[in-house]
Amino acid sequence: MKNLKNALLLKQLYLLKQLGYNYTSVTAFKEDEPDLTLPNTLEKLKKQAEECHLCALSKSRHSVVFGEGNSHADILFVGEAPGATEDSSGKPFAGRSGEMLTKMIENVLHISRQDVYISNIVKCRPANNAEPSSSEAHSCLPYLLKQIELIKPKIIIALGATAYHYLSGDDSDISKVRGRMQEQNGYKLMPTYHPSYLLRNPSAKKDVLEDLKIVKGMM
Ligand code: URA
Repeated sequence: MKNLKNALLLKQLYLLKQLGYNYTSVTAFKEDEPDLTLPNTLEKLKKQAEECHLCALSKSRHSVVFGEGNSHADILFVGEAPGATEDSSGKPFAGRSGEMLTKMIENVLHISRQDVYISNIVKCRPANNAEPSSSEAHSCLPYLLKQIELIKPKIIIALGATAYHYLSGDDSDISKVRGRMQEQNGYKLMPTYHPSYLLRNPSAKKDVLEDLKIVKGMM
């Protein structure tokens, strides 16, 4: 929230500078503080994210990939960031790693992809599929936290190290923590490998199978 507040304050200062102000006191904002509360429906939250310019990723995006699926899902999958296919379609996990994710959901959990919710740590594509910077991730995190608050999933599956790191605050190696269900505030967090990693390392599929079987056992 602090990042969001600072970014909004910075935006106001830029606007004032463009209008010719050289100096202003922050007390000038006290009476007219921006409304920092995020909307209480997924539709309105999506609209707000679509108008977001809090970080540089907004400059190069074609779509804001907000997330999709069952808004009352028990299971929320969180990836890292949209790639090229997601940026052009506006849908999360729409490319090859999406096909792998769909197989994980349908062949292991035995539920349909539409029954879960799928989102990412950042909603806009980083150039060259780079890992989002810490400031990009922190600027975007309030949207994911609000999605979690509204969807109220019982289990969140963190796909890969970036998703796990920003959801848990722990930067342990994903290979050390995968498969260990963790109690978080209001939900359980299951870290596992990212589907793109499975495309590059098919031998890790058996590990993800084990992790998802634990999730399946709890459903
Ligand atoms: N990788 C991700 O982490 N998220 C997507 O939506 C697609 C690929």
